[in-house]
Amino acid sequence: MAYFADLTSYSYGPVEPDVLNVGWLGKGNTFCVGPTPVAFREALRELCQRPINKHRGYHVCEFCKLADPRKGNGQVRVMDQLGRVFVAPTMILHYVEAHQYLPPEVFIAAVLNPRTTSLDGLGDWGA
Ligand SMILES: [Zn+2]
Repeated sequence: MAYFADLTSYSYGPVEPDVLNVGWLGKGNTFCVGPTPVAFREALRELCQRPINKHRGYHVCEFCKLADPRKGNGQVRVMDQLGRVFVAPTMILHYVEAHQYLPPEVFIAAVLNPRTTSLDGLGDWGA
């Protein structure tokens, strides 16, 4: 799976310099761990149930030591009250729940109090 550092510009598909990456974790790269608010995880779960921009192939969790690791494809987007757009793979929910990934505070705030989300059509490529 592609790895992108948190809060770098999105460049997986068409380059979108104003869209910021969150949660594109990869093996060998450290990430923050810590507790996240229950309300955040619930809002994130809801978002991840309807991913947009499904990618070819699957992302496989590189941290699970399971024979059948978690897979995901697609992404979710959220715009915060300041108009910043964050893009995360749907795998982010698994990273948070299973691996205690702690996303940047600005992302947590955006998910808890979005101006708009991909459920409203934000950034959908229309595929
Ligand atoms: Zn995992």
